[in-house]
Amino acid sequence: MKIADKSTSAEKLVRDALEKAKKYAEYNIFTFLNEEGALKKAREIDARIKKGEKVGKLAGVPYALKDNFLSPEGETTASAHILEGFVSPITATAVAKLEAEGAIMIGRTNLDAFAHGSSTENSYFGPTLNSRDKKRVAGGSSGGSAVAVALDIVEFATGTDTGGSIRQPASFNGVYGLKPTYGCISRYGVVAMASSTDCIGFFTKTPDDMDLLMSIASGQDPKDMTTLPDYYNTDADTELSDLRPSWATGADRAPEPRNDGREGACRGSLNSSVRIGIIKDFDNESVDSDIREALKKKVELLKSKGHEIVELEMPALKYGLAAYYIIVPAEVASNLSRYDGVRYGFRSEKSDDLDALYYNTRFEGFMPENKRRIMIGNFVLSSGFYDAYFLKAAKARTMIINEYEKAFSECDFILTPVSPNPAFKLGEKVNDPVAMYLEDVMSVSLNLAGVPGLTIPAGETKDGLAVGLQLVGPRRSDKALIEFSKELA
Ligand code: GLN
Repeated sequence: MKIADKSTSAEKLVRDALEKAKKYAEYNIFTFLNEEGALKKAREIDARIKKGEKVGKLAGVPYALKDNFLSPEGETTASAHILEGFVSPITATAVAKLEAEGAIMIGRTNLDAFAHGSSTENSYFGPTLNSRDKKRVAGGSSGGSAVAVALDIVEFATGTDTGGSIRQPASFNGVYGLKPTYGCISRYGVVAMASSTDCIGFFTKTPDDMDLLMSIASGQDPKDMTTLPDYYNTDADTELSDLRPSWATGADRAPEPRNDGREGACRGSLNSSVRIGIIKDFDNESVDSDIREALKKKVELLKSKGHEIVELEMPALKYGLAAYYIIVPAEVASNLSRYDGVRYGFRSEKSDDLDALYYNTRFEGFMPENKRRIMIGNFVLSSGFYDAYFLKAAKARTMIINEYEKAFSECDFILTPVSPNPAFKLGEKVNDPVAMYLEDVMSVSLNLAGVPGLTIPAGETKDGLAVGLQLVGPRRSDKALIEFSKELA
């Protein structure tokens, strides 16, 4: 992924990427193209290479940035009207780390406004089109980033995953997409959606690229209290575990050595056979037959390589979606309260007093889905309903955490579909919020439990749509997860 030899230049790579971005304009991938900024950086890198100076691991590599990462290059809008015109004074830690290694942002990518959605249709700037079929959705919320990588415009793109927003669009477009362990990568400078489930991750074309990006981006950040010590690159253990809830610390990390004397795959090498869990409940009529077929094929492949298949019962996962759509709106309602027309971006013209300013700015500036979540969130947190909804959801979350813990005492990784169906048609679900929420039924439980999940491309449907599967591991098993995904290629 780097400029390995002198046969190319950063400037050429950036020019090519910008050209492709323009060629695919109809896909509506970018909210901003960083032409001047990117070319300037590319020339600087080329000059340094010429002088024989040391350059970073990503020197000259063009990438796309989901438009909810703050940086002073272009407006950071989160694809929401209410942030239009907002130029960030700060740079997200993840962006700073990538750019310190020489990566060059060529554009900001479209998303569902504030990352609320599963199709990128909730964007103020209109939907991004699927890379395989322009009549279908890109998936979401990181739809623009997934399509930018799938169409080979950039080498990699950033994403955020609160309930599936990296994994599902990766699956809809046939690329790799990783939601790391909660706390692995700093969220400082990323527009917050739901702070207890938000994760930063990447879209790539290969597992090796994913590994490289993870090695660069992960690690503790004093600006984000939820970040873990850098377990990705070292054997660091957390010293703060007693201060934080277990799902945040990863206290129960990878499996202990197995009682058969072989080392668990998540800790050690992958030389011995690995136990792969398959969730029984996910093999039913409501899952598209092409996806079930893809899963079957991969299971056969794993068996043929000598790996062991374990059938899992995980009944608590059925509460995942309900718990998610209580906990997440509650956190969304808090996180969106800062957008008031005073501090960021858009301000309504219609207001002659302060209350009206708040009201009109929020009324005009948020998308319908943002408002729906603010209302649900405030409802479930209100004094009369807190016990009945939020508290119950928090208990269901604990059950889900325990269920994963139990599952990972029986297997090393779990292989599941990412979503019940491949990319659906534009307009098919956007006016039916519950149908849209059901898209997330297989992805949200990972975020509730804080465990990592990697979407791997797994062939295509009869109609040529991409099919992805999701490899899930215990907290902090990210590196082993990426490594093991090569067995499924
Ligand atoms: N589709 C899910 C939602 O709408 C997940 C979004 C995300 O991960 N940002 O909440």
